[in-house]
Amino acid sequence: MSTVAFIGLGNMGGPMAKNLLAAGHEVTVFDLMPAACADLEKAGAAVAGSAVDAAIGKDYVISMLPAGKHVASTYLDEGGLLDSLDGSTTVLDCSTIDAATARRVGEAAAAAGIGFMDSPVSGGVAAAAAGTLAFMCGGSAESFEKAKVILAGMGKNIFHAGPAGAGQVAKGCNNMLLAIHMIGSCEALEMGARNGLDPKVLSEIMLASSGRNWSLEVYNPYPGVMENAPASNGYKPGFMVDLMAKDLGLALEIAQQSGVDNQMGQLAQSLYAKHQQDGNGQRDFSSILEALQE
Ligand code: NAD
Repeated sequence: MSTVAFIGLGNMGGPMAKNLLAAGHEVTVFDLMPAACADLEKAGAAVAGSAVDAAIGKDYVISMLPAGKHVASTYLDEGGLLDSLDGSTTVLDCSTIDAATARRVGEAAAAAGIGFMDSPVSGGVAAAAAGTLAFMCGGSAESFEKAKVILAGMGKNIFHAGPAGAGQVAKGCNNMLLAIHMIGSCEALEMGARNGLDPKVLSEIMLASSGRNWSLEVYNPYPGVMENAPASNGYKPGFMVDLMAKDLGLALEIAQQSGVDNQMGQLAQSLYAKHQQDGNGQRDFSSILEALQE
């Protein structure tokens, strides 16, 4: 059993914190929204009046915040978490943020003698609730050994991607590839359908052939092919277009900063940005099929 401070109790952080309670850890929470704290209090957590109050003296601090600016201010501001903690606390930021901020916070933590890992997740709200998230961690080997113990209460696959920032880079690589194979799968299925093929039969053919990929295998974007996929449920998310657009923005920043000519990633980003602007932000990302059908 460990003592854990959990900062950021939204769609993802709320269920993740509940899983830590269920795993027997002593959890103290903080969120700017009192209702989110009250929900966790009902589940057995202690509530603190600030992130610093929640964090001081705990074995672990875990944050699940919207974007890089929230993470930077929580950790780096004067009087923020890095000013207030010491080497006895291990810090895990599970938010999806830009790799540059993750490196900056990781390096500042290292300079203060605090173990920090960027630990973004793959898997959405359902995986957060089921405790089956995948974590991609960036930081030292020593911090990773400590991180594994606590992350096991919230996820199934826990990877050490490399040094500070590497978790965010891994997440950017994965989600850029996901966007590309989702769009490619939509194009292939639409081409088959327009030429008289049954998308279900075509999916079976491609799954047994070299076009096989995750979008076809577990998340088929064509309505009616896969009963439980968002495509067969009016594209109710699932994984929202807004979040894919955010993740592609972060992936493109990484590509630009490292001089990678990612033309497919850029095209995927512009298609998702247009789909988002067309009013589909809150729908599942596999609804990009409809953009290709127009
Ligand atoms: P959310 O908007 O539901 O929750 C964010 C929470 O952080 C809110 O409750 C908000 O009040 C709180 N918050 C904001 N600033 C704060 C601060 N300074 N101090 C304390 N609390 C603060 O977002 P979410 O869907 O839970 O996503 C969180 C992170 O997880 C994001 O980075 C997102 O990209 C990533 N993510 C989300 C999903 C998903 O399917 N929702 C999947 C994978 C990764």
